[in-house]
Amino acid sequence: MNIQEIYGKNVFTEEKVRERVPKGIFNEFKSIQKGNKKLSSEVADVISLAMRDWAIENGATHYTHWFQPLTEITAEKHDSFLAFTKENNATIMEFSGSNLIVGEPDASSFPSGGLRHTFEARGYTAWDLSSPAFLKEDATGVTLYIPTIFISYHGQALDKKLPMLRSMEVINKASLRVVKYFNIEAESVKPTVGAEQEYFLIDKSYVNLRKDLLLTGKTLFGSLKSTGSQVKEHYFAHIPERVGRFMKDFNEELWKLGVPAKTQHNEVAPCQFEIAPVFEVSNLAVDHNQLVMESLEKIASRHGFVALLHEKPFSNMNGSGKHNNWSLATEKGQNLLDPGKNPEERTRFLFFVSAILKATDIYAGILKASVSSAGNDLRLGGHEAPPSIISIFLGSELTQMLEDISQDKIIIEKHKEIISLGVNNIPDIPKDLTDRNRTSPFAFTGNKFEFRMMPSSRSIATLNTVLNLTVGSILEEFADRLDKSSDVAQEIQNIIKETYINHGRIVFNGDGYSEEWKIESERRGLLNLNNTIDSAKEFITEKSLSLYERYNILTREEIFSRQIIRVESYISSIYTDAKITISMVNTQIMPALIKCFGKMLIVYKDLSEVSVKKYLDGGSTYMEKSLKKLDKLIGDLTEGCENLEKRLAELEKEEATHATGEKYCREIVPLMKKVRDTADILEVTIDKEDWPFPTYVDMLFRA
Ligand code: ADP
Ligand code: MG
Repeated sequence: MNIQEIYGKNVFTEEKVRERVPKGIFNEFKSIQKGNKKLSSEVADVISLAMRDWAIENGATHYTHWFQPLTEITAEKHDSFLAFTKENNATIMEFSGSNLIVGEPDASSFPSGGLRHTFEARGYTAWDLSSPAFLKEDATGVTLYIPTIFISYHGQALDKKLPMLRSMEVINKASLRVVKYFNIEAESVKPTVGAEQEYFLIDKSYVNLRKDLLLTGKTLFGSLKSTGSQVKEHYFAHIPERVGRFMKDFNEELWKLGVPAKTQHNEVAPCQFEIAPVFEVSNLAVDHNQLVMESLEKIASRHGFVALLHEKPFSNMNGSGKHNNWSLATEKGQNLLDPGKNPEERTRFLFFVSAILKATDIYAGILKASVSSAGNDLRLGGHEAPPSIISIFLGSELTQMLEDISQDKIIIEKHKEIISLGVNNIPDIPKDLTDRNRTSPFAFTGNKFEFRMMPSSRSIATLNTVLNLTVGSILEEFADRLDKSSDVAQEIQNIIKETYINHGRIVFNGDGYSEEWKIESERRGLLNLNNTIDSAKEFITEKSLSLYERYNILTREEIFSRQIIRVESYISSIYTDAKITISMVNTQIMPALIKCFGKMLIVYKDLSEVSVKKYLDGGSTYMEKSLKKLDKLIGDLTEGCENLEKRLAELEKEEATHATGEKYCREIVPLMKKVRDTADILEVTIDKEDWPFPTYVDMLFRA
């Protein structure tokens, strides 16, 4: 396989547009992309024809608008190119400019959180010119995919992409105002993102035997506790043959789609792996991460695996996350979070780092809310996962530098129009920072910040919207100050100094997994929101609402509608877990236990030649003890399950409000845990042959 030959083969790249349309149209297309011009129907018509011809030459029969509704997956509705002429009913392949620009999917089947009343259920998809169209090959044939945004009849955002694109504009504008003070000439500044995706691969035949894995993507029963298995030795180990064959196909699929798949390796847990792409401008990275997740599931299935994207498929083991590497770059590729080589670059770097510190401290709540989900609640704070407290790792050198500036030990000077730090005082910032940063939720890693709380199964759009918006708003505030200042160098010093004094509490370079950090972070007054329901509230604080509104990212109404969807989805997720827990106990575990108990009684009877009744009256043999133990556990399980069923039946009748969500979080989750804990003891108490579904050892360690 030659990567260069297949890379981007299925993408309608800019080069392909250039080759296929007249020069004038291409130039117009470019200025529309840059936002300098509005899209005309003439341009759309010419481009749509070129796109259609390219797609058909490559075997496409259908096209679809591809969008990212407020679920975690993308949506598509395929239409074939087939049409008939009016004159003589001859077949033609039709795809016009208007087919390209707008689509009208049946919006009523997508969540709107009440924004869309049934009498105006229409929703529109609109072409997103910043993300290229592409071809997908699968069992349905070849289809042309057009990335779009999704809006309601009244123009309200019904997707994750539109707010994300708007947030990019916020940080672009603010950064441009800032960089000119650091002698950087730029036309645009865009956030760059590289999302490292973790996942598990489990043999299909096992998944088919487990209702929990099949329907919720995670196990609701099972544990490795009793086996004492050492599960940490797999990292960077040899990739198993069968997984290797999967990875080969997976990479090929991604490369054809223009997804720059770069790194792959085993992860900490058995059967866990990671794929990391080369970073891209954030809107492309968002689209491409969706393609990574979709391709993972599709290609895994071809190889007899199920790809589990859930954050915590297996209890007491490493879960899956997505490290969202984030930085800012000019159109020429200059990375603004690179510490740089000279004093001027270093000052610019510290200035941007200050904006990130302040944004993260002030908006920690929204940041946390943007990565909260029922699945992530199970992961954060657990094995090898960041704690639920937001903090930033800077490393000791960088922290010391900010410390020194805050105490005026380093002075930023104006010297021949160049703003510089006192040259002799600037230590280099080492790239290889200590391993401690692995425990940090938001770590500076040399020339970018890595946000590690991101749940593996979710779209990265919301997190990146929040990062762009919050950091952008602080950069704007800083730019206002610089614009007004008569001594810019002094003002830069003031800003860095004040920011560190006021927001330095968010910096933590120690062990984020430790108990001490929980205590210390509380002393510092940092938020520790450890579940989705409590975190979700952060989106609707006045601080958040006014921020979103000020920058026209989302209106209050739109935010509240998203809140409804968030709470409903949380409740529905816990509800489904509870229902499946109950069903697995009643239809699989209990019958197995009763059979096992019966078998033991017969053996006991044969052994002791005494009546069963006598056993129940007392005695102290091994068999008697085992029977009693089993009897007690079965009793506990029955009781636990009944309690869960009873409370669930009550809550089922309630409306899906935030208050109901709290009950699911604080009552149903612990009731489920109790059932699971008992069942997990039973699993290692009874005969292996009697356990009704594959165990962790079967699924994770069988060759
Ligand atoms: P590590 O493995 O230590 O986390 P890597 O250098 O391998 O770090 O990068 C991990 C991810 O970070 C990759 O997806 C990479 O493309 C991405 N990345 C690197 N530089 C940037 C940047 N400037 N902006 C955004 N992402 C970046
Ligand atoms: Mg990483």
